Amino acid sequence: MLVVVVLLVTVAMRVAIVAAVTYLLLPRGPLCPHCGIEMAALENRFLDHWLTALQRRWCLECGWDGVVRRVRRAPMRAPTRPQAPRPTAS
Ligand SMILES: [Zn+2]
Repeated sequence: MLVVVVLLVTVAMRVAIVAAVTYLLLPRGPLCPHCGIEMAALENRFLDHWLTALQRRWCLECGWDGVVRRVRRAPMRAPTRPQAPRPTAS
């Protein structure tokens, strides 16, 4: 019985290592790995529901499409009111 547990644990560790290396090899962010422009996000039910750290994207410039690591963007700041110009002393 101990042999079965040890084999299952080693298989699970291999799966975890392969998943981690595969994740790290994926391109990061919305920029195309070939031409560097921002790619369009594609809807993928599996990735959007089960693997939210990944996202499928398509480059409109060179046609590259694939899975990339999703990058969280910094929260947008509320637009500040433009200040009225100060009167200058003249
Ligand atoms: Zn491209």
